[in-house]
Amino acid sequence: MSERINLKALSKDDVLRFVEEAGLPRFRAGQLLHWIYQKHASSLGDITEFSRDLRGRLEETAYISSLAIADRQRSSDGTGKFLFGLEDGQTIESVLIPDEDRLTLCISSQVGCAMGCRFCLTGRLGLLRNLRAFEIVDQVVAVNRMIGPRRTVSNIVLMGMGEPLANFDEVVEALWRITSLVGISKRRITLSTAGLVPRMKSLAEKAPEVNLAVSLNATTNTIRDEIMPVNRKYPLRQLLDACRAYPLSPRRRITFEYVLLGGINDSVADAARLVKLIRGIRCKINLIPFNPHAGADLRRPSVEQVLAFQKVLTDHHLTALIRESRGQDILAACGQLRAGH
Ligand code: SAH
Ligand code: SF4
Repeated sequence: MSERINLKALSKDDVLRFVEEAGLPRFRAGQLLHWIYQKHASSLGDITEFSRDLRGRLEETAYISSLAIADRQRSSDGTGKFLFGLEDGQTIESVLIPDEDRLTLCISSQVGCAMGCRFCLTGRLGLLRNLRAFEIVDQVVAVNRMIGPRRTVSNIVLMGMGEPLANFDEVVEALWRITSLVGISKRRITLSTAGLVPRMKSLAEKAPEVNLAVSLNATTNTIRDEIMPVNRKYPLRQLLDACRAYPLSPRRRITFEYVLLGGINDSVADAARLVKLIRGIRCKINLIPFNPHAGADLRRPSVEQVLAFQKVLTDHHLTALIRESRGQDILAACGQLRAGH
């Protein structure tokens, strides 16, 4: 028998084609998609809407993959971390962050990351491989399956392992499936990039209305070059021009993430430079005190330093929130994901 087709790895059009080639009426495609993305079927056998005959027939040529949950941890603050095993034995992590009115899932777009940011544990791994679109979407489906049926993920952030814009086509396809098939609105999805400038423009074209977050993390090229090697290719000026040119629908804003590293980028002079750099960009700023991990020669600034930095921004009428990363006790916080590697 030739290899069976993984229905989850197919685009919507390919599912249609599969159904046609199997000699089935078109509405079966809609049913398949509904069962895979909304009812979280993890095998054809789960699809009770199909007769046993039909299930058996489909199983001869096709199957539905599902991410294997290798581990699940829960932080004292309610944050959950999931370790998923992929079909080739690689592993990735997703983090579930409950809030009063939302349930946010932070998903991965790559195994590891090639960007090499100095403060980030994922970066230490280097890039092991890109995720396929279905592996990105399946993090959402698998978590919905686990926490349902009463609760479902309401918001998505692409802030887990990897640089989403470095895996552009698969991420765009995943975004399409998450919005159109899983049913999470674009406005509830945020993609975070370290600043792959040319791809930011493409993202605005291919996935308009998805929220954009940009990891800024420094106010001079000298420092940014040092902590984020991507800056040597796309320096601050180009990055901020791309942000200025980014089409935003009314009431939407770009989020700037700024990891505060003690003694490196956390002075009030940095804060003042930041104010100037982002002038004219509709934005908010998330200040993230550095989350330490073994081996990093960096430190978290004092609370006073963080507050002093924030005050410069708010004094200039900017929205600047201090984001105490959740889930630190289980290494689920920003920059702490490495999926057991
Ligand atoms: N690759 C994308 C998205 C994943 S990283 C990006 O870099 O934007 C998500 C966020 O975690 C980024 O804003 C990054 O700056 C931040 N981050 C990375 N390591 C961190 C650490 N050790 N402490 C706090 N934030 C960190
Ligand atoms: Fe990659 Fe983002 Fe980590 Fe930088 S901060 S190494 S871009 S995951």
